[in-house]
Amino acid sequence: MGLLEGQTGLVVGVANKRSLAWGVARAAAREGARLVLTYQNERLRENVEELAATLDRSVLAPCDVTRDEDLEALAETLAREVESLDFLVHAVAYALREELEGAFMATSRRGWALAHDVSAYSLVALVRAVHPLLKKPGGSVVTLTFEGARRVFPNYNVMGAAKASLEASVRYLASDLGPEGVRVNAISAGPVRTLAASGVRGFVGFLQGYRERAPLRRNIEAAEVGDAAVFLLSPWARGITGEILHVDGGYHLTGV
Ligand code: NAP
Repeated sequence: MGLLEGQTGLVVGVANKRSLAWGVARAAAREGARLVLTYQNERLRENVEELAATLDRSVLAPCDVTRDEDLEALAETLAREVESLDFLVHAVAYALREELEGAFMATSRRGWALAHDVSAYSLVALVRAVHPLLKKPGGSVVTLTFEGARRVFPNYNVMGAAKASLEASVRYLASDLGPEGVRVNAISAGPVRTLAASGVRGFVGFLQGYRERAPLRRNIEAAEVGDAAVFLLSPWARGITGEILHVDGGYHLTGV
């Protein structure tokens, strides 16, 4: 029997087959979960539709996380399509390309607001939207962060600040929802080549740095993030909340 047998989950953030969200969706489906996947807009619908078709019993729904009306519509679709939700996977981030190069000091007010809205506030808004459906006790939320929240990576800039906000939000949400038996955790993933990652100037340098310095001396894969997410979502992690779990080959422990 799979670790998530009989469970239903919402996965937000699949853009294509390289997406970390897709790594999580595949692992969760393999472990027996039924999934609702979202796509940001019509342009991406076909992509996500094709992927969703490879999963058993999945449901597809549109959702741009910056639009309150989309979040409301998503909650309505969920209420119609599923009895309750066992888990939510949040794997969404965005910053203007020009904010992901050069000096952090040059971050614009608009760029700051947009990056924080899409990459951090969206977790709070999504949790609130699905809260009535989340199983209490037993529900679980997982989001994805990066070490740039804690340490300086060239050009990661405003996304580092947004990830720090996301990680703080994990702790506050864990505190809010813990009394109901709902857990909230994050995976801090090492660099993986994805659409979002390609927006960071010099990203190949991140990959190389991790390969050379991480104790495991290699880069991680989306499937490894998927398996760790399954663990955090499953009853095996029932005593864990407010945690940032590193899936980075151990890079986070390195000094010089
Ligand atoms: P990805 O495949 O490009 O996924 C990012 C997702 O965010 C896409 O599905 C994207 O949709 C979505 N998104 C952006 N703006 C949105 C909006 N307004 N509404 C709804 N969805 C929106 O890249 P990824 O690397 O897998 O990113 C997933 C998460 O992992 C992000 O939080 C990222 O920061 C985190 N992470 C990534 C790495 C890495 O090295 N790749 C490492 C650590 C953490 P569109 O394509 O339609 O914009």
